[in-house]
Amino acid sequence: MEKVIIVGSGCAGLTAAIYAARANLNPLVLEGPQPGGQLSTTTLVENYPGFPDGIDGPQLILNMHKQAEKFGARFSYAEVTDFEPRNSHVRIKADDEWLETEALIIASGASARYLDLENEEKLIGHGLTSCATCDGAFYRNVPVCVIGGGDSAAEESLFLTRFASKVYLIHRRDKMRASKIMADRVFANKKIEPIWNTVVTKYISDEKGEMRAVRLRNVKTGEERELEVACVFVAIGHDPNTKPFAGKLDADPEGYLIAKNLAESKHPGVFIAGDAADRIYRQAVTAAGTGCAAAMDAERYLSELER
Ligand code: NAP
Repeated sequence: MEKVIIVGSGCAGLTAAIYAARANLNPLVLEGPQPGGQLSTTTLVENYPGFPDGIDGPQLILNMHKQAEKFGARFSYAEVTDFEPRNSHVRIKADDEWLETEALIIASGASARYLDLENEEKLIGHGLTSCATCDGAFYRNVPVCVIGGGDSAAEESLFLTRFASKVYLIHRRDKMRASKIMADRVFANKKIEPIWNTVVTKYISDEKGEMRAVRLRNVKTGEERELEVACVFVAIGHDPNTKPFAGKLDADPEGYLIAKNLAESKHPGVFIAGDAADRIYRQAVTAAGTGCAAAMDAERYLSELER
């Protein structure tokens, strides 16, 4: 029987691991299919407090990992596929093995949706990203494009106008899904050029492997063309990594877990942190904050069990 198992090794999971380990709970962290989470796929993180010159996402994650290990956290690569909350403990299936724990912290994160085109994985971080806040400032005075028509696409496009020479907003329909206020802001901004009824069918990279252009297809006319852009920002939504918990914990219709008091689930002993329960902020620092809350709640829960 473990005392604390933490599912996920992104910013939320690692922060929970640092706190739980410092509280002598000897946590076991299960690193899933994307160890290190979304930060491990970004470049320079300039908005995490404490690093005035920024820090590379993978380095930040590595530091958190070391910090958790220093206090006694243990790590194992395993994908959680099932979950059974019981009265006095929790069972989770990691790869093919059922593990038992007194407390569970779910920090399984969310994954940005991408288009599933050729070379996509190779280009992430080389002119392909899903985070304007993270990467926008690297693309000054060059044309970029945003894919999507929702609030995220609108927000990212507006943010990117601070840096880019031009922002093409490529949407598969002829109407924004975004709220009117956001759409109006997009239309009022001269730097943003919407390209309607259009999908990206190919990423085109230069000889150094950096994004150079995209191939576009108009879905109404079938017309194809190439558009020069230095970076593609994909904003077609996120999917929370919460399938193993579906139906067993409260979740919204898209699968984001619902926490009360920051990190508590409806099941005693099961706590929630990070992007798996955050469809709004999705920042490293907010994930770290709820990771801390989840570990402190778990510690309190375990000490009450012992009384
Ligand atoms: P969203 O509202 O689901 O919009 C996703 C957009 O991507 C849609 O326009 C969709 O097209 C498009 N899309 C989806 N799959 C695609 C594909 N395979 N190829 C091309 N386009 C694709 O997601 P979101 O913008 O991330 O917003 C999620 C939630 O967060 C929303 O409730 C939103 O209001 C909220 N949010 C709010 C703010 C804000 O208020 N400032 C900011 C960000 C997010 P269709 O329109 O054709 O479906």
